[in-house]
Amino acid sequence: MKVYKFGGASVKEAAGVRNLAEIARSTEGRLFIVVSAMGKTTNALERVMDSFWEGRTGEAVVAMQGVVDYHAQILADLWGEPHLPQRVRGFYEELEEIITLSNPKSRTYEEWYDRIVSFGELISTSIVSDYLTFAGVGSEWLDMRRMFLTNNRFRDANIDIEVSTPRLRRAVECSTSRVFVGQGFIGATEQGATTTIGREGSDYSAAVAGYILEAESVSIWKDVEGILNGDPKQFEGVSYIPELTYLDAIELAYSGAQIIHPKTIKPLQNRSIPLYVKCFVNPSLPGSVIKESISKPIDIPILILKKNQVLLSIKPKDYSFILEERMAEIFAILERHRTKVHLVQNSAISMALCIDATRYLEEIVEEFHGSGFSVKYNTDMELLTIRGYRKEHLQEFVEAENVYMTQRSRKVLRILRKK
Ligand code: ASP
Ligand code: MG
Repeated sequence: MKVYKFGGASVKEAAGVRNLAEIARSTEGRLFIVVSAMGKTTNALERVMDSFWEGRTGEAVVAMQGVVDYHAQILADLWGEPHLPQRVRGFYEELEEIITLSNPKSRTYEEWYDRIVSFGELISTSIVSDYLTFAGVGSEWLDMRRMFLTNNRFRDANIDIEVSTPRLRRAVECSTSRVFVGQGFIGATEQGATTTIGREGSDYSAAVAGYILEAESVSIWKDVEGILNGDPKQFEGVSYIPELTYLDAIELAYSGAQIIHPKTIKPLQNRSIPLYVKCFVNPSLPGSVIKESISKPIDIPILILKKNQVLLSIKPKDYSFILEERMAEIFAILERHRTKVHLVQNSAISMALCIDATRYLEEIVEEFHGSGFSVKYNTDMELLTIRGYRKEHLQEFVEAENVYMTQRSRKVLRILRKK
């Protein structure tokens, strides 16, 4: 069994879906395909969600129509005439019913978010699966909400791998299909409520499927040649890295490299399953591989830019020593608001934290005040990480005027700067 994951960009138009079908056709043996929502559908559904949540039903309906029209275009292109798969029609009806008839305040924002946003993957996989059959490849559509059991931490749910294992194995083992298509990014709680596992989480879904099915490999199909030492949209003169260890990949992903979701590596490492990053537009290119050990260590600096950061500067109002007494309290407040911390610096009575931008910023600040801290913050920050930095980087980046904070070890340089 092989696992392939196709991200939103690789199925953003009909040509991509056709390409996927060709890749599936030319792969030998059993294949488990994980697909994300097409193109920018997740963002569009987030807008549907926000309008629904604010009670602006008309706006939600218009936003939903945008999603329907976008997929209609891809469907017409694939089938050569207007076409609406049965299952997709059902999902549209369900979504419309939610946004026009439900009371948003009957559940939390997070729970509604997962219900609404998950339609992106439900729709994309239905189209891909039907198209594979139409193109003569044949495939079986799986509802991953029945396979992946998660906790009820909506928007950031954790998959219970132990309970999910027999479910997914049974579905695959009891079937004679060669190709399976399942959604990335989604699961469900024991009560059957739809959950999502965090933005860009489909890589992790693929890794978990690979782990459970003891796949020989997991491949992530992207619109790049393989893993690069920097985002070509951000940095000049980037080059391609053919091999990385699991450890390299985890470090990169945590620093914000958008190659793979940070949680992806662990399940693969646990079963020594190699992870390929393959070029979708040119499948004959070797791509990059992430595995246990590699023949030659990476010898070029890697630059990673994490955007949408906030710098929080926290001080206890009574000047008590922050380290000894208050650290746990600070992190508990952030954890309660599901806020990820990427950099910490402290002195005797102050602590500076770089966190992801969050819609709960005001509430977090309030809570800090309530717990006896004074807080200042700066928004629109970005965190630059350079692994294997060189002297030139110090001059180029550290001495720049927009730098608010730096951290440096022998190998890694991290710079928090204003955008
Ligand atoms: N569709 C989801 C997102 O855009 C999940 C993913 O692409 O991995 O965040
Ligand atoms: Mg995506």
